[in-house]
Amino acid sequence: MHSLHGRVALVTGASRGIGAAIARNLEAAGVKVAIASRSGDNPGIPGAFAQACDVRSADSMTAMVDATVARFGQLDILVVNAGVGAYGPFLDLPMADLEEMIEVNVKGALFAVRAALPHLLRSEAADIVTIASEAGRRGLPYEVAYCASKFAQVGMTRALDHELREQGVRCTNVCPGGVATDFAMGHGRTPDMPQLAGMMSADDVAEVVRFVVTRPRNHRLLEVALRPVSESSWG
Ligand code: NAP
Repeated sequence: MHSLHGRVALVTGASRGIGAAIARNLEAAGVKVAIASRSGDNPGIPGAFAQACDVRSADSMTAMVDATVARFGQLDILVVNAGVGAYGPFLDLPMADLEEMIEVNVKGALFAVRAALPHLLRSEAADIVTIASEAGRRGLPYEVAYCASKFAQVGMTRALDHELREQGVRCTNVCPGGVATDFAMGHGRTPDMPQLAGMMSADDVAEVVRFVVTRPRNHRLLEVALRPVSESSWG
């Protein structure tokens, strides 16, 4: 196992949900953690650095990376996690929701990598981990725009792997099925929907991310797909 002590990670969308769980898990493993979100909230991680950052803005993303490096001196791990989702029949999907999924999930992911990459290339052990989705591996009904945005993330990370492997930056897609968070609440999910009880926890995904970044440096995981037992592998 590769030690994480002294490493620095930036996790986008880490004020709550999966990102907060990843930040907490990495911090417990000895990583110095920077937390980006629009609110700038720190989800209770004492040593973490939190700053307001909107991934839809390349300037805001660059300012976040610069502040992280100013605080911790380096950047070794980027977790591209900030994301939004809205479900429903495609023609019923509000245009604002469609545009936000492209802005946050597609442009936000690209902007995060663009801002972080110069620093990752200077790291002795760099990882980019994209929290994509099962919706980035197969077309799912009532998730047309979300699938489009998640396929884009998967494609981005696969292409980055080709481009960066020989320069020592490992690139991994983590593709979860349903995770019980605030995600898509009011946009296709409701707090009382029965499926929530069977979904995975944010901590389940965080454990996978820690596994990915602690692999010995002689190999890399290209994609990890995980789904709740309650979800079929067909739909
Ligand atoms: P969540 O609980 O809704 O959390 C989303 C996080 O993203 C929050 O910290 C939010 O903070 C931040 N965020 C949203 N828009 C942002 C922006 N423009 N700039 C910066 N930060 C922004 O969602 P989650 O379930 O943790 O989802 C995290 C990732 O996992 C997403 O990419 C999602 O697509 C993916 N995923 C989720 C599931 C699931 O079932 N939950 C399954 C597969 C994949 P602020 O509101 O403060 O900005």
